[in-house]
Amino acid sequence: MAYDPRPVEPAIYKRWLEAGVFQPRPDGAPYVIVMPPPNVTAVLHMGHGLDITTQDVLIRFERMRGRAALWLPGTDHAGIATQNVVEKLLADKGQTRFDVGREAFVRGVWEFVTKTGKTILEQLKVIGSAADWSRTRFTLDPDYSRAVREVFVRLWEDTLIYRGHRVIHWCPRCLTALSDEEAEHHETNGNLYYIEYPLVDGSGHVTVATTRPETMLGDTAIAVHPEDPRGRPYIGKMVTIPIANVQIPVIADEAVDKEFGTGFVKVTPAHDANDFEIGQRHKLEMPLVMTEDGKMGGAGDGGRVPSDYVGLDRFEARKRIVKQLEREGLLVKTEPHPHSVRRCYRCDSVVEPRLSDQWFVKMKPLADKVMRGYEQNEFTIVPDRWRATFENWMNNIRDWNISRQLWWGHRIPVFTCTTCKHQWADRVDPQQCRKCGGPVAQDPDVLDTWFSSWLWPFATLGWPEQTSDLKRFYPGHTLVTGPDILFFWVARMLMSGYHFMGKKPFSTVFLHGIVRDTKHRKMSKSLGNGIDPLVVVEKFGADALRWTCVANTALGQDLMLDPDDLETTFAPGRNFANKLWNIGQFVLGQLPKQVLPIESIDRRLMTLADRWILARAQHAILAATGHFSDYRLDEAAKRCFEFAWNELADWYVEAVKPRLTTNDQLSRTTVHAVLVYCFDTVLRLLHPVVPFITEELWQRLPNRKPTELLAAANWPEILPQFVDSEADVQFERVKRAIELIRSIRAEYRVSPKTKLRATIVARGNDQAATFEGERDTIVRLAQLDHLALDGAQQGAGAHAVFGDGSEVVVALEGLVDVTQECRRLSEEFERLDKQLTSLAARLTNESFVSRAPQDVVAKEREKEKAWRDQRDVLAGKLKSLGCS
Ligand SMILES: [Zn+2]
Ligand SMILES: [Zn+2]
Repeated sequence: MAYDPRPVEPAIYKRWLEAGVFQPRPDGAPYVIVMPPPNVTAVLHMGHGLDITTQDVLIRFERMRGRAALWLPGTDHAGIATQNVVEKLLADKGQTRFDVGREAFVRGVWEFVTKTGKTILEQLKVIGSAADWSRTRFTLDPDYSRAVREVFVRLWEDTLIYRGHRVIHWCPRCLTALSDEEAEHHETNGNLYYIEYPLVDGSGHVTVATTRPETMLGDTAIAVHPEDPRGRPYIGKMVTIPIANVQIPVIADEAVDKEFGTGFVKVTPAHDANDFEIGQRHKLEMPLVMTEDGKMGGAGDGGRVPSDYVGLDRFEARKRIVKQLEREGLLVKTEPHPHSVRRCYRCDSVVEPRLSDQWFVKMKPLADKVMRGYEQNEFTIVPDRWRATFENWMNNIRDWNISRQLWWGHRIPVFTCTTCKHQWADRVDPQQCRKCGGPVAQDPDVLDTWFSSWLWPFATLGWPEQTSDLKRFYPGHTLVTGPDILFFWVARMLMSGYHFMGKKPFSTVFLHGIVRDTKHRKMSKSLGNGIDPLVVVEKFGADALRWTCVANTALGQDLMLDPDDLETTFAPGRNFANKLWNIGQFVLGQLPKQVLPIESIDRRLMTLADRWILARAQHAILAATGHFSDYRLDEAAKRCFEFAWNELADWYVEAVKPRLTTNDQLSRTTVHAVLVYCFDTVLRLLHPVVPFITEELWQRLPNRKPTELLAAANWPEILPQFVDSEADVQFERVKRAIELIRSIRAEYRVSPKTKLRATIVARGNDQAATFEGERDTIVRLAQLDHLALDGAQQGAGAHAVFGDGSEVVVALEGLVDVTQECRRLSEEFERLDKQLTSLAARLTNESFVSRAPQDVVAKEREKEKAWRDQRDVLAGKLKSLGCS
């Protein structure tokens, strides 16, 4: 009977919730993971599948180990992302947010979020998340908003927030500034345009190269490196900007890259961050030649944009300008030029660098505190290959633009007096100016979303109040996420933790990989290569989904899944659940209601098989505990799989079957105790990875009280009395003998129904005793009717040798046509021998070896070795069959 997870999983999840097992126990050392809050409008995707499963495994593991485990969930208001969703809904009705107005728009977003915002959390439950839902937080909750405001005001008071006038990343679609991290790099096959700027004195021209010709209308200088001999004669001369017909100087600046283009670069201070700095050094004008929505012209253009270009989209303007330059003979050439272009991480529009006034956080003092803790190993990053990237970013930290020209989010608490212009940040909305009592106006912008989520590890626990949760659960332990938000979020949480709490927020940052398809492309909506986890749960069960996420992800590596073949991708998890189910059905079917605990069984009553499986159980506990602790979840899962499937089901259960029905009550009691102990251990070890089926089976074990839950049970401890390397070695030898006989049977295609006659020639008395002791097991599992252990070989047969020198011989006379088999083997031997002779001749031929490419020669040598090995095997077979 196949296991059907569909009725089981929701019922089990309900039991866990009702029993309150996801809440931290009142005693015990805390273990805390804060869940990266998904966007409030998010819908479950495989990225969550991997991220959430990883955290759930760790939380369940530590909870079973006796820690007061807290997994704190919540959602992020996700400023730009959520605003975009609602703007799209408005667009369907032909409206923009400006038609609706700020207040009504924000109200609309709240309604939308209230209606749909819980979807993602409900979906996280479907895959088994053992989070403490009673502590769920939202980054716009009143308490949380208070923490955000407190943080802003404290930074303001510490003069770590300032108003900056500089070139920032601007999204012309979202109409807002973006941080460096929000403006993502994308490789693009662009062009490099070489443009002539005529010298005003008529003595010629200079040529500049640019990827964005439309910005030339905003040029206020041409710059050359002071030491570049090509440029030196022109310094101080004036040139005319084509099309704009404005005269600008040629200046010298060390920031110019001599290797780029012609050595002459155009300087557009309002539309390029580097040019802005050159502009500041040389006190250049800084005209803005585009509007906020990326069209040419606008109030700040100083009349530079000709009327036929005003209102044109920037990319259309680029085409027209190139054409016009071509017509006027000022376009020298166009070269293909692959380069990186920044795009908005929320809407994918090409970001336009733009001069603007924004609020910034001074990051250096915050980063320094983190790096002091980092150097003293107060926290670690796993896997450690991310350390260099982290260090590089932290050591070259840039100030953080935190203001967004959006409506959805935390309004910036900066107030300005309209009378005396006094400006300050306030914890509460002031009625009037603190200085002169005049009317005040609040800054219209909102804070970057990450300005609230960077407080997640302590604001979720009630900060700035000194709550009991804050005292008990800060700092946390493991922070699990993908490397894509290392800087957006993880690094900033470290900064806020050190700055506001005086302590690290967590001790380990565990960066798992990214979910990709089989072509190594990131899964995304736009590529249509995603997998819906809920479809997977419906078809295969949540345990199968989790199994695939865990077993296929080596430490920090990406998870490759095939969206076109869910069967191959998720069936292994389902098959394993079925196997566990079947082992369970068999084991449980054999057991009485009460079974003795393993500790009370007299070891002298145990057989080699008993001692062996108990030793393997200790090994599995040790390995799984170690691997889970080291974040090698896949290794842990694989060891548990091997213990359950190979060791317990395929060997132990098969070896002890007769004892389950024997009249020897002591033997039966012993087997029952061993079986229950081992199966119970399997379920505990596998519970963090596949919690549903393990809970379901565990409920059915003997001696179970109805209130007990595996989710709240203890992690298995090593029982030292069962660590038994002697039993390990001895039973492995018995297994090996059986496997060798089985492989001979398969090789000579002897029907499984035919009983074989075999001889084992043991090397040494110790081994002979082992085989003698397990004679019945060998006879039964290898399907023998006779096993000789006295060394006398029984006629012609096939033999195989153990690694340690013992031999197995299977009599084949009467079962296979020995004469024909000999002929077949000799022919094969002859053929191989001939091939080898000619290959060997080639390899001793100097002219071949010296002339052929080295890798070809190496391949031939490898081939020669493989053929020699094959020939030796054939020779062995010929000998053991007694062929002449
Ligand atoms: Zn955008
Ligand atoms: Zn005032």
